[in-house]
Amino acid sequence: MIEEAAMAEPQTQTPDNDVPLRGTVFRVNSGNYYVLTGHGEFVCRLRGNLKKELVYSTSGSRPRRVQDARKRRTTDPIAVGDHVMIDTHLGMIEEILPRHSSLSRESPSARGQHTLVANLDCLYVVVAARHPWPDLSLLDKFLVIAEAAEIEAGVVVNKMDLLAGDEDETRAAMAVYERIGYKVLYLSAKHSEGVDELRAALAGKISAFAGASGVGKSSLLNALEPGLSLRTGAVSAVTFQGRHTTTSAELFPLPGAQETWLADTPGLRQVDFWEVDKDDMQFCFPEFAPHLGECKFANCRHHTELGCAVRAAVDAGTIDTRRYQSYLQTTEQE
Ligand code: GDP
Ligand code: ZN
Repeated sequence: MIEEAAMAEPQTQTPDNDVPLRGTVFRVNSGNYYVLTGHGEFVCRLRGNLKKELVYSTSGSRPRRVQDARKRRTTDPIAVGDHVMIDTHLGMIEEILPRHSSLSRESPSARGQHTLVANLDCLYVVVAARHPWPDLSLLDKFLVIAEAAEIEAGVVVNKMDLLAGDEDETRAAMAVYERIGYKVLYLSAKHSEGVDELRAALAGKISAFAGASGVGKSSLLNALEPGLSLRTGAVSAVTFQGRHTTTSAELFPLPGAQETWLADTPGLRQVDFWEVDKDDMQFCFPEFAPHLGECKFANCRHHTELGCAVRAAVDAGTIDTRRYQSYLQTTEQE
């Protein structure tokens, strides 16, 4: 079902009137942008001169927005997840609608930023209850990436079936994240347990799964929609053959609720190339927020400074010690 929707030949049908159509970019390939609209799929290109002055920033006067767009050095001006207005006769993207988020990282192959997904609503970090053991340090790194991009984040604990009912330890470790305010979903992709709750959480949003290999991301996609992991596997194969020059992402529509998309983002299997400013790191640990500004020194880095309110909260048990260690790790590396 989903396969047909995403794989179907682009439709050439044109809507009755000439007004530009609104759609969502779900695939980018060699300058071709695949856009899903209320009137079907269209393959569009971006007009040459539009590239330079393309406007997709958030607000402000037009000159200001154009200036912002020019300053932005992206390897590709449009990413999957972008909402666009297209001219269906010319097959051209006319306008990119304002983004509410963008998950970008330094491009490994080209200078500048590479946006993996635009308008991502939620990033779910997947860990396994066992095999492999949850890598909480990696989990924290992914959560930092989401916080830095101001994208809602959640945690999926997969392979709960392997605990055979002995769940206390795992649930206690994850309760730390629930207390911080992250949604934590416990499930088993293999036995399709807890998958409906995940499906409900995804409805109407653009979401992506991040996490180490082997935790069950493909199995999860498959549990949500049989055949989806095969499709994402096919995308990886294309990447392997070198037809995609940069790490690409693709959105897959989930049937059911309208406008529900899952992003397959090969770039989210690793945390390299992500640059979060060290000074911003303190804001990427939401549980620090009540204590920031209470430190003795305004420029406190919350390491060994005297009168540090964050450290005091760690000592008092208000902030989890291991989370604090993750913060130290991310800020101490030079
Ligand atoms: P990915 O690398 O994150 O995409 O992980 P995969 O989906 O390929 O899964 C890795 C391995 O874990 C495979 O052998 C799966 O069969 C297994 N697996 C995935 N989900 C579950 C689960 O819920 N329970 C159990 N017991 N095994 C699972
Ligand atoms: Zn401090």
